[in-house]
Order: sequence, then structure tokens, then C-alpha cells
Amino acid sequence: MSNAISRELNETLQAGTPFFTFMTNSEWSRRAGEEGICDFVTGEPHEMPLEGYVAALAKWSRPADPHWFGYKTSEPDACAVVAESLQARLGARFRPDEIFMTNGAIAGLILALRAVVDPGDEVIFLSPPWFGYEPMIRGRGAVPVRVKLDPPLFDLDVSRVAAAITERTRAILINSPNNPTGRIYTSAALTELAAVLEEASVSNGRPVYLISDEAYSRVLFDGNEFFSPATHYPRTLLIYTYGKTLLTPGQRLGYIALAPGMPDAKEVSGAVFMSQIQTGWAFPNALLQHALGDLDKLSIDLTALQRKRDVMAEALRSFGYELTIPQGTFYLLVRSPDPDDMAFIDALSRRDIFVLPGTTTELPGWFRISLTASMEMVERSLKGFEAALREV
Ligand code: PMP
Repeated sequence: MSNAISRELNETLQAGTPFFTFMTNSEWSRRAGEEGICDFVTGEPHEMPLEGYVAALAKWSRPADPHWFGYKTSEPDACAVVAESLQARLGARFRPDEIFMTNGAIAGLILALRAVVDPGDEVIFLSPPWFGYEPMIRGRGAVPVRVKLDPPLFDLDVSRVAAAITERTRAILINSPNNPTGRIYTSAALTELAAVLEEASVSNGRPVYLISDEAYSRVLFDGNEFFSPATHYPRTLLIYTYGKTLLTPGQRLGYIALAPGMPDAKEVSGAVFMSQIQTGWAFPNALLQHALGDLDKLSIDLTALQRKRDVMAEALRSFGYELTIPQGTFYLLVRSPDPDDMAFIDALSRRDIFVLPGTTTELPGWFRISLTASMEMVERSLKGFEAALREV
């Protein structure tokens, strides 16, 4: 434990160690960007951005008034776009004044935790998780409580969540469609979860919040429907990022939307706003907010993404791999033929194929393929996936 930095940051860093180590000190970290490799590690773009995206930025970079690039909080026009978009997709009326524009989902999650969770509170999250959750919860000085979900489907198991609730539980963090499992939680499971959280709020004598990470809510396959916890449980803070739908994660844009009818919405709104000020004027830049009306209409080509999923899944299955077919997201989860996923990713990397080892997301014995790689990479990688399997 270092004496040079704060205890809180130290703990945060420790919690994210397997992932951060892979990102900064692995064969992949040394070779990322090299020509000729097949890189399936992260949800990063490998092809040129949407033309509509570039055009929208160009259009809205022309100032329409002297205050165009002045200080911004959550621009009313941007919040109205979000409310309309949510109404169209979820069929619920979100109030524009209860929408907070954020620098992507990462900022949204941190702000939400800061707004409703106190240091020492318990926050439940589901495992396998996105790598950021535990460091974020610890970063708030709160106690992460892990609820494991079972392979191969990793469906939401509400009875396990109920068993993990204590008198110190303050929030649960849910991610659907889920990274890394690709699961969309059913409306029935969310209804059941809402009942458990209502009951816990009563027995604890203070509200239990649901923080809903909906980063992939518009990245759906096979015509699947997405169900938001926000239309099931009114104490939900809905977190969204445009980084996935538009595949522009370096352009930080997202929001927090309070569920329609949230009790104490005024207090929670005030807390979110104050957290944005306190954490460094944490609002998206003016240009992205001006452009939102155009950006919200755009999406990456989901048919092409699904095609990559299908080509990859069919080939891997024919070689003998076991996989979980995602209902949404960028990711395909595969059981490592060698129970030691770190050893198996070495076998793949010797063939210039790079994937995310399950060990970095609390899922040893599995690995994750990001389908944001190009179709050309998908096709080029297949021989190597087959050869690595034969070698085990
Ligand atoms: N939540 C999940 C589940 C994610 O996969 C990611 C990005 N990989 C984020 C949040 C963060 O998104 P952003 O960087 O756009 O804030």
C-alpha cells in the first residue's frame, strides 16, 4: 500500500489490477496497432467513423450565437432530444429537467454513485462485470458486493441479489445488454428485482437505488427488444453513452436520466448537478451537445455487426468451441479450450490474434471477442482460432 497517494485511490487501483495490467503490460499492449494483427480486445473502432457523424460535427461547429462555445451545463435542447429519444424507444415520459448530460457512461456512473451512495454503503454488482464497476464503487469509498451469475447464459438471478441485500445496501448496479455476456435481462426478471428493491427500501428505512448501465441499449441483435430497469423501478438512474451506438468512445457524450416518477427526484437531481460541478465541471463539451439532435438519429451498421457475430460464431462452433451467443453488445463470449485462459490467449497471440482474457473480468476459463474488429480481421483470424484449439 503506497504512502504517496490517497488510500481511496490506492484501493481503486488495486481493484482494477487484472484489467489495468492487461491494458498496459501484456503482449497485446505492446502490439496493438501493429499492421496484420487481428485485434478483438476492446470495443474500439477499426474502421472509419460514420460520415453522418463527421458531417454533424462540421455543421454544428459553426457558431449561431456569441454564447455558442460559452460555459455549458446540460443544454435544454440536448435534454429535450434525449427525452424524446427515450420516449420513442422505451415508451415512457422522462422529464428533460431530470436529464443530465455527461461525458459518457463512465462519468454518468461515477456521478450517480456520488449522488446517491455514501462512503461505507454497500453497492451490489453482478459478476462477471464490466471491469470499471468495482474500482468505481471503491472510488466512492463504498463497499462492493458481488453477485455471481451462472454460465452459459448469465441470466439475472434475482434470488441471489435478494440474498446479498443487507441493511447497508444502498444501490445495485445493473448492465443490460451486458458486457461481457451479451444478455438482455427480461422484463419479468426486472419486475421481480423491482419488488425486491422496494421491499429492501422499506425494511432498510431508506431508499435502495438502481443504477442502470444502458451503454448497449441500442446495440441489439436478431430484432431483440431491450427492457430498461427505469420503466420497472422508479428509483432508477438510467446511464447512457453514445460511444457504443456511434462507435466514437473518444468523443465523450452520454447522460443520466432519472426514471419517470422517481420519488425524491428533486434531491437526487440537485445531488447529480452538484457532483458534476465538484468533479470538474463534468459536462460534455458545447459542440457535442449542440450536435446531439443529429447524432441521436445515427447508429453504426447493426446488420454488419450481427453478420460478424454470425460468421465468427458459426466458424468457432464448427471448430468445437463453446460460446454464448450475445443478444446485444459488441461482444462474443467463448469458453477457453484450455481452462487457463491466460495460457490460451498466448497461444492465440502467437498467431497474431488478440482477445480479452476472462481473468480480467472475473471469468477465468473464458475469453471475450470484440466484434468491432473489421470483417476482414474476422475472416483472417479463423484459421488461427482453429489451429490454437487443435494445439490444446
Ligand atoms: N459500461 C459498459 C458496460 C461498457 O462496456 C463501457 C465501455 N466499454 C462503459 C460503461 C463506458 O462507456 P463510455 O466510455 O462511453 O463512457
